[in-house]
Amino acid sequence: MEKLIRGIVDFRDRLLPQYVDRFKELSNRQTPDTLFISCSDSRVVPDLLVSTDPGDLFVMRNVGNLVPPATVTGDSTGDVSEASAIEYAILVLGVSSIIVCGHSECGAMKAALTSSTPNEAPNLEKWLHHATSAVFRLDQEGPLDKRWEPHNQLSQLNVLVQLEHLNTYPIVADRVKEGTLRIFGWWFEISTGEMFAYNKGRRRFEVITDKSAERIISQMKTKPKSLPKSENH
Ligand SMILES: [Zn+2]
Repeated sequence: MEKLIRGIVDFRDRLLPQYVDRFKELSNRQTPDTLFISCSDSRVVPDLLVSTDPGDLFVMRNVGNLVPPATVTGDSTGDVSEASAIEYAILVLGVSSIIVCGHSECGAMKAALTSSTPNEAPNLEKWLHHATSAVFRLDQEGPLDKRWEPHNQLSQLNVLVQLEHLNTYPIVADRVKEGTLRIFGWWFEISTGEMFAYNKGRRRFEVITDKSAERIISQMKTKPKSLPKSENH
C-alpha cells in the first residue's frame, strides 16, 4: 500500500504536469475507439503494453478475461457487469474495435484446466464455468500451437471462445456483420513481454511486430457508422 500512496505523490509532482491539458480536455467527454477486455492479473497492464494515454481505451477486466455469453434477447447468462460494459462501449461510446486479450501463466486458466479452485470460493468456481468450452475444445481438438504448455494452450483457445461469446450479443453480431465493429483476439506472453494477435488464416497467435502491424491496422478499419435516426433529418 505504501507504494501506492508514494506513487500518487510522485505522479502529481513528476508526471501530472504533462497530462494536465489532456485531463482537462477529457473532463467532460471521452471518445475511446476500443473496448479492451483483459484479465485482472497484475502483470497485464493494458495502457503500458499498448502505449495508450488516458481516454484511449475503455477497459473491462475480470478473472480470466471472460465474457459470459448472451441469450438470443441479448441478456447475459452470467454476471451483468461484463454485458453492461459491452453495451456502454458500443451504444454510448461507439467503439469500433473490441479486443479480448488473454495472457500466459494465467491463474484462472490453470484452475480451469485442473478444475481446482480454492475452498470457500464458490463464486470463482461458478465464474470459471465460462471457460469450460475452452477446456472442452483443448481436449477434443487439441491446441492451436503445441509449443506452449497446456495452460497456455488453454489460454489461447479461451480467447477464441470468449470472442464467440461476444458474438452472441446481438448488438455485437449485427455491427460485426455490417462492418462497423471489428473484434480481435490478442495474447500477451509475460516472460518476453510480447503481444500476439490471432491470425485467422493460419489459425494461430503470432507476435505483433513492425511488419505485421500494418496488416493488423488495416484489418481494424471499419465502415463509417450510419447516423442515428434523429440526425438524418
Ligand atoms: Zn489471468
